[in-house]
Amino acid sequence: MPTARTNAPRGGLVFDMRPLGRQAGSARTQALTVPAPDDLRLELAAVPAGADVRLDVRFEAVTEGVLVTGSATAPLTGECARCLAPVADTVAVGFRELYLYPAGSPRGHADAAEPGEVGEDERYLDGDLLDLEQALRDAVVLALPMSPLCRQDCPGLCVECGVPLAEAGPGHGHEAAPDPRWAALKQFDNQQGRPAGAIDLQEG
Ligand SMILES: [Zn+2]
Ligand SMILES: [Zn+2]
Repeated sequence: MPTARTNAPRGGLVFDMRPLGRQAGSARTQALTVPAPDDLRLELAAVPAGADVRLDVRFEAVTEGVLVTGSATAPLTGECARCLAPVADTVAVGFRELYLYPAGSPRGHADAAEPGEVGEDERYLDGDLLDLEQALRDAVVLALPMSPLCRQDCPGLCVECGVPLAEAGPGHGHEAAPDPRWAALKQFDNQQGRPAGAIDLQEG
């Protein structure tokens, strides 16, 4: 698999808005596959960096910027939260984000606003460029499972020996620990028996 690391890591997720223009209402759709950015991960689940992310996006010019509506589908790998077996799945998300035209740049060529740095949840266009990476990242990470399961009814690990119960099968079990009352009786027998045997020996 070719590595997705380049000197321009956001390359695949930066879209040029010039073909869209600024006429409110004009819209373009695009379907494409991009390499997953790094660090789309939670503790137990991740979209592998460089994996194919299928994107369907619609850009619509609105008065204050560009409204992006889209969906992304990506492979997901992880570890079962119950039995630690590898999990392979797919994560699919939808998103809808407004990218504002940079402040004070009606033509969009000012550098007043750095994309991703200004405002709290506000996203900005960088001139004619729209960088979808952070929006995609936010949507995907939010959709990753906190506790992925290899299967919905994963029985987890044996508390006695730690083997995955799904592999060990339904018959897996351990000798029940001896009932402490039996253990006590046995000890009692031994204590009684030995002297008795000793006496027998002495008498015989
Ligand atoms: Zn499992
Ligand atoms: Zn066991």
